[in-house]
Amino acid sequence: MDRKVDLERVLDQFTELVSVDSVSLGERRMADILKAELESLGFEVTEDDAGAYYGSDTGNLYGLLKGTDPGREPVLLSAHMDTVEPGLGKKAIVDRSRGMITSAGDTVLGADDLSGVAEILEGIRLAKADPAGYGDIEILFTVAEESYCKGAVKFDFSRVRSKTAYIADMSGSVGNAAVSAPSIISFEFTIHGKPAHAGFDPGAGINAIAAAAEIISQTEQGLIGTGLTLNIGTIEGGKASNIVSDSCRCTGEVRGSDHEEAVRVLGELEKRIESVCSRTGAEYTFGSEVRIRAYCTPEDDITCRTFLKACENLGLEGKLISTRSGSDNNVFAEHGISGIVLSSGMMDTHSVTEHIEIRDLEIGSRLIAEIISLS
Ligand SMILES: [Zn+2]
Repeated sequence: MDRKVDLERVLDQFTELVSVDSVSLGERRMADILKAELESLGFEVTEDDAGAYYGSDTGNLYGLLKGTDPGREPVLLSAHMDTVEPGLGKKAIVDRSRGMITSAGDTVLGADDLSGVAEILEGIRLAKADPAGYGDIEILFTVAEESYCKGAVKFDFSRVRSKTAYIADMSGSVGNAAVSAPSIISFEFTIHGKPAHAGFDPGAGINAIAAAAEIISQTEQGLIGTGLTLNIGTIEGGKASNIVSDSCRCTGEVRGSDHEEAVRVLGELEKRIESVCSRTGAEYTFGSEVRIRAYCTPEDDITCRTFLKACENLGLEGKLISTRSGSDNNVFAEHGISGIVLSSGMMDTHSVTEHIEIRDLEIGSRLIAEIISLS
């Protein structure tokens, strides 16, 4: 059906949401506003205690709207409530002549992910007005997605009835959707050497920085395989220019579209550390943490087919792509939900030049409505 977005309504909503401070683990006001908004749309909303795990007072919002057509499959729509920093005092500058929304220049805009939130809300309003009816709609608005999906990780997925999910949380023009994302495993290692005076008795020391340098120079970084990257991002150590350094700490991450492959590369790194240390007499500690796990939603999955059909109905060229960054969908996939991540139109995210075209807010809302109708 031909749906007309109430452009002023979605613009007002987006600019209002942007004006609310909602950095990760500081989402209280945002959650209150969205809870009221969902309830006004007829959702039954509950908030979990995810925030309590991280010393925050805000949990994930889960909402259920009973459909008018019990014959349809339920569908889960999701976005995150938090924004990155600098994100305090955000203001949406709407330039109608250019059709563009930017921040004031000193903060992010927060289109990541408030454009996703606004499009979902407007899409639901449009779908509700569809005389053809709709099935059950579930909503999950998460906290702390920007810090490795901390909110989603604590959500009780046994509550979710939908087998398919659409997460409105990717940069780029509306019409793109991510069907795969990598595992992200962060690691850190510390080389423990032995201090000595660098001028009087250098031979008595074991130089931790030199050992770390050797390990790093033997470690391939950047794109090291298909869908596989390794990066050593920080290094710190040493006490003074005249002391043989007794400690050097490095941190980094591995991203791999194949989880086992990423784990294998990390194992190789640890072996290299062990080998250099045993030769130089240094000791080491090594730790890693799986931040998110890779997923791949097959292109013939109902989620992808519904998305492509929805794009076609809107005259958009739907594209299924792979992404190198994680999202809550990585967590959904671990719980057996088959999801894809939709571009909401946000651009230059995680920077003060973040922006979105007004047109994308409009078409993004229509895409959500179309997906609900086709589900
Ligand atoms: Zn995001």
